[in-house]
Amino acid sequence: MRTKSQRLVLNPKAMGDHHRSLLLRYLRLNGPTSRANLARSLGLAPSVVSRLARELLAEGCLVERECIKTSVGRKPTLLAFNPNYRTVIGAHIQTDKLECALLNLGGYVLARWESIIEREPMPEQVLELLFKAVNALRQENTLGIGVAISGLIDAKTGKIVFSPVLQWEGINIREVLEKGCTLPVYVENDANALAAAELLHGAGRNYKDFLCVMISDGLGCGVVLGGRLYRGTLGGAGELGHTTIDLGDDAPICRCGEQGCLEEFCSKRALNREAQRLGLKDWRVLGEMARMGDPYAQKAFLRFGYYLGVGLKNAVNLLNPEAVIIGGDLTEFADLFLNTVKEVVRKHCFPGGRTAPEIMLWQVGKEGFLIGAGGLVVEEFLSSPIRT
Ligand SMILES: [Zn+2]
Repeated sequence: MRTKSQRLVLNPKAMGDHHRSLLLRYLRLNGPTSRANLARSLGLAPSVVSRLARELLAEGCLVERECIKTSVGRKPTLLAFNPNYRTVIGAHIQTDKLECALLNLGGYVLARWESIIEREPMPEQVLELLFKAVNALRQENTLGIGVAISGLIDAKTGKIVFSPVLQWEGINIREVLEKGCTLPVYVENDANALAAAELLHGAGRNYKDFLCVMISDGLGCGVVLGGRLYRGTLGGAGELGHTTIDLGDDAPICRCGEQGCLEEFCSKRALNREAQRLGLKDWRVLGEMARMGDPYAQKAFLRFGYYLGVGLKNAVNLLNPEAVIIGGDLTEFADLFLNTVKEVVRKHCFPGGRTAPEIMLWQVGKEGFLIGAGGLVVEEFLSSPIRT
């Protein structure tokens, strides 16, 4: 603790950068605001807000808007974050395709690039495609590249520690891409990227504490606590898909090497197994059969919903979130399992369902991965905005 004789001396440049960052973040989140309201909300002197506004307007980072509601007298002019100030690239590496997009700073997709990739692709092949995509999409004002990928990611170094879905281990995507593209690169777990997109642009806007569960080839989960993404010590927070749900000797073995993981019961992979048992092509055909009234296919989805409900109940008992957002390909058939999930959570959350959160489907949809990936670059820009 500091004594009276010890004063905290702040570096004026660091202080200025901090204020710029505060102001930009506020406007991005809250929309157009008057200078007076900004000063009040941020606890800054009006003179500081005026100076910052002057600088940021001159750079093009902010724009002025006239207030629509006018009364007699002077119209107040509002300040707004300019989403078209720069662009970012967002990429989502999946098992069967690579999706990329050029986005503005508000998460609006300006251009897309997509490529099919082989199953269980080698990292070199995918990085080669990623180079092509970045070269096709980048503009002079592109700030950087954000990459969303499944698995345990060290977001600080950009290294894929291990991705069971892709079977990649120890690949430093950031290092390779930065060398080839000369743009800053940020890498994030795909469920975390989706949670970040929901937090800013989707169903998560209304909540401070929520889980964003992504059901696809596997089952991932982004954890948002206090309005911020929680990654855990090594980036391993939210590995809900690898929590153990079956302790039986004959429990299925997961791709992570453990036995009885939740994603062995709640993923496309799990439903594909059910489909094969019925002689059907895949989970999608199984879903269509269930909708047509096939009792076995319906049962498979009910079982899926039951296991997902139990998995979520465990997560809810641990974190007590306000909401759970469910996203991923499987939401296409939410009508076949969502009510079961809600019922199990409502019934079994401790104590007697009293802590059951709201459960809803994603709002940002598939573009959320690209928006969230591009958002990594925007976040970095807002932390230390460049000066032109
Ligand atoms: Zn597992």
